[in-house]
Amino acid sequence: IQQKLDLLKNNAHNTVNSLLDTLALNLAAKVDDKIANGETIGLLEGIPFGIKDVYMLQGSYTTASSNLLKNYKSAYTATAIQKLLDAGAIPIVKENCDSFGHGSSSENTIFGAVKNATDTNLVAGGSSGGSAVNVAKDFTVFSIGGDTGGSVRQPAGYNNIYGLKPSYGRISRYGLMAYASSTDCVGPLAKSIEDIRIVLNIMSGKDAKDQTSYASAEINEDSILNSDSIKTVGYFKNFIESDAIDVQVKADFLATIEKIKAKGITVKALDFFESETLVSTYYTLAMAETASNLSRLDGTNYGNRIEAENLKETYAVTRSENFSEETKRRIVGGNQVLSQGFSDEIYLKGLAIRNQISENFNNDFNEVDIILSPVTPSTPPKIGDSLKDPHAMYLSDAYTVGFSLGQLPTLTIPQGTATGLQITAAKKNDELVLKFANFLK
Ligand code: GLN
Repeated sequence: IQQKLDLLKNNAHNTVNSLLDTLALNLAAKVDDKIANGETIGLLEGIPFGIKDVYMLQGSYTTASSNLLKNYKSAYTATAIQKLLDAGAIPIVKENCDSFGHGSSSENTIFGAVKNATDTNLVAGGSSGGSAVNVAKDFTVFSIGGDTGGSVRQPAGYNNIYGLKPSYGRISRYGLMAYASSTDCVGPLAKSIEDIRIVLNIMSGKDAKDQTSYASAEINEDSILNSDSIKTVGYFKNFIESDAIDVQVKADFLATIEKIKAKGITVKALDFFESETLVSTYYTLAMAETASNLSRLDGTNYGNRIEAENLKETYAVTRSENFSEETKRRIVGGNQVLSQGFSDEIYLKGLAIRNQISENFNNDFNEVDIILSPVTPSTPPKIGDSLKDPHAMYLSDAYTVGFSLGQLPTLTIPQGTATGLQITAAKKNDELVLKFANFLK
């Protein structure tokens, strides 16, 4: 209880979820019984974990940290979460985040800004900030975040833990509240590569309820220990030479590169798209998708309905009163991008650049096995600062969004004093990412 109260100071938790407490206690009692009966228990049985508050868990509140869904109770359970429950893991908390995943700081939430695990004056990062802080503070052994454009990797980096965005489709999205469906990924955060591997294996697999999901082979423990197949590593020159990069982030990254060379790996500097291009392509598509996905939230079937004179007014008032400023900015932007007269020029152009980005990655992975990058150009800002300038906040996503558009597997590992190292491999090669992380240890 003391630990839970301490954590409330970081705002990592959402609604004090007594329903969840009851579920957790019941599950824990079953594990206790098994142990008392001398039965052997599975690897995850009794292990406490956290869930970003955008996943359905039947009977619990799923608020997306938004006023609109403040009182919404999940009617079913997400596939990825169900697989963890089936393995005996115990969900103990729904975690605070930027509402609907919109943000990079976990300040865009009705539950108060999430505070960084090491310095409470700083943001935890986002949007899966609560998930990262709970792991960093040992309240959960692992947490399940959601990563659309960096939301697992960036808070993992800001809180010095591990966070994986698997290949798009490796884990079913069924029951993850959709933000941008073409890049949304279910992603674990934990304190070790081994924990990431175990949880990834359990959640992976084809699901009839998500047509973009695919079947994948289990990644076994021994295969990660052998990194012989990794000969060449690349990094993007323009990321490291950019004026926007913090000196410490750059120094730590270059120190890692030296360490890799000393281990006999060839390192290549690669060309890549400018930050502005990556960020504007990602936000064009993500806003279009979120405007479309969130159109269902009008107070008719879900959420906090605010009655007005007529139906149209009811929709308008419900949405304008309940969505945050940031979410409204994205809905307005997204609808503009999709509207007649603009969609060819903006949306279709965004799709075309996305194809070029993917093409670029295909060429890169003919030359290198792994691509490395810092997770962010700078260290975590003070609470309040990123709210002042949305464009600056979007630009802070420059190093993560390209890999999302490419649907690649990419993992944050702690790195020196700065904000984490991002390890990326070709699509569906999640195993190689974990191998390389282990090799660097
Ligand atoms: N910061 C990015 C955005 O706001 C990524 C968020 C996410 O991955 N959910 O879109």
